[in-house]
Amino acid sequence: MTHSSFHSLIIGAGAAGMMAAARIGQRGFSVALIDHASKIGEKIRISGGGRCNFTNLNLNGNDGSSYYVSQQPRFVRHALSRFCAHDFVRMVEAHGIAYHEKHKGQLFCNGSAQEIISMLQRECDQGSVSWHTGCTVQAVTALCTPPEHNAERFEIRTTQGTFRCRHLIVATGGLAVPAIGATAFGYETAKQFGHSIVPPEAALVPLRFAHWADNGFDALSGIALPVRISTGTGRQCVSFDEDLLFRHKGLSGPAVLQISSYWQPGNSLTVNLVPDTDLSAALCSGKSGQKIQLNTALKQLCPALPDRLLDFWLAQPEFSAHAAQKWADVPNALLHQLGNSLNAWTLLPSGSDGHKKAEATRGGVNVKEINPKTMESRLQNGLYFIGEVMDITGWLGGYNFQWAWASAVCAAEAVASDGAA
Ligand SMILES: Cc1cc2nc3c(=O)[nH]c(=O)nc-3n(C[C@H](O)[C@H](O)[C@H](O)COP(=O)(O)OP(=O)(O)OC[C@H]3O[C@@H](n4cnc5c(N)ncnc54)[C@H](O)[C@@H]3O)c2cc1C
Repeated sequence: MTHSSFHSLIIGAGAAGMMAAARIGQRGFSVALIDHASKIGEKIRISGGGRCNFTNLNLNGNDGSSYYVSQQPRFVRHALSRFCAHDFVRMVEAHGIAYHEKHKGQLFCNGSAQEIISMLQRECDQGSVSWHTGCTVQAVTALCTPPEHNAERFEIRTTQGTFRCRHLIVATGGLAVPAIGATAFGYETAKQFGHSIVPPEAALVPLRFAHWADNGFDALSGIALPVRISTGTGRQCVSFDEDLLFRHKGLSGPAVLQISSYWQPGNSLTVNLVPDTDLSAALCSGKSGQKIQLNTALKQLCPALPDRLLDFWLAQPEFSAHAAQKWADVPNALLHQLGNSLNAWTLLPSGSDGHKKAEATRGGVNVKEINPKTMESRLQNGLYFIGEVMDITGWLGGYNFQWAWASAVCAAEAVASDGAA
């Protein structure tokens, strides 16, 4: 049977796949990039609200592992120090792409995310990468070849013919947004070669709550405010200071997306709606001699709390009888209850919006079985995993793309150090 031969073959022409292909090709090695989608880089295109938050400056000068969710977060350290945020920024600048820092170190294109896709395509073209889009992989087989130099190790049967390669890189990403091409291919291929999979779940995703509309919360849809959100207890407690967004069907906004990556079903969330004020103490200590009504006092003490939310809160049965009462006359027990309810609003999510609306996947190929310096499988020579297909999930804010770039660079350098072009 005829087949095309390449030094390296990459399945998945997303962020990590294109980065790796460009690097391998530019080192003079023959490389093919296969994607089942006809349009490449779709996740880049829709990322960052169309402006692609392509990296985060917080990843310069530290080990970075605190920004990643994984059973082994320290796995990221080598790759992120080998190829840091500045390295990607240098590439962006070399291509004349204008960018800005939005907040918390997040870098976005001034124009559109398409500029990042075009940059990666140009980089691939410089490396004479062989593109195969709209190409479905039907089978991956390890060839029984002697371990001699340059022998092909894999055969990949596709709808566009059969390929053979010495190095096979799986860059098929996670399960988020199946509508634009996400599949479980990477996990299935990993399992085929004996890898274990940390169960994949939606991450960076809006959360839902039972009886949300019955309790009237749907009426708050559209309200956004800065909060502190937490989940877990003791050393497992994680919290974020970010914006919360009320939605028709639950909660979203950066605060909820971030915490969703840590939330475990059955666990509750605590939302501090007034994070800069100990409201219970302020309400009790400030009431003496006050003739203003409780609702006015609350507005003064919580200037960032939108009126619509505050009115909703005071309309709850436990507080409604006191809303128009003179502040000084409201019993301390009620003020404590009110303050605590806003400083520590406790909610039990019933689930999430799922992969359809997620920005990432938590879980994936278990990194215990992958070499952190090369991204090569410890179970199958010549097989590599890069990007989100692995059990590495970054925080919101450019961390996922930086992982895609950095893991791709490590794999590219590893394969380029093996054999002649
Ligand atoms: C709405 C949204 C916004 C986001 N915004 C940001 C952001 O601003 N900053 C950030 O850092 N991260 C963001 N992310 C996350 C980021 O897009 C991903 O983490 C990143 O794209 C992962 O790169 P990857 O190369 O591993 O996978 P992907 O970029 O997802 O690429 C995987 C590729 O594999 C292909 N593929 C899948 N299955 C197969 C198969 N069976 N055969 C062949 N090809 C296959 C897909 O078509 C795709 O081209 C966002 C994600 C979403 C969904």
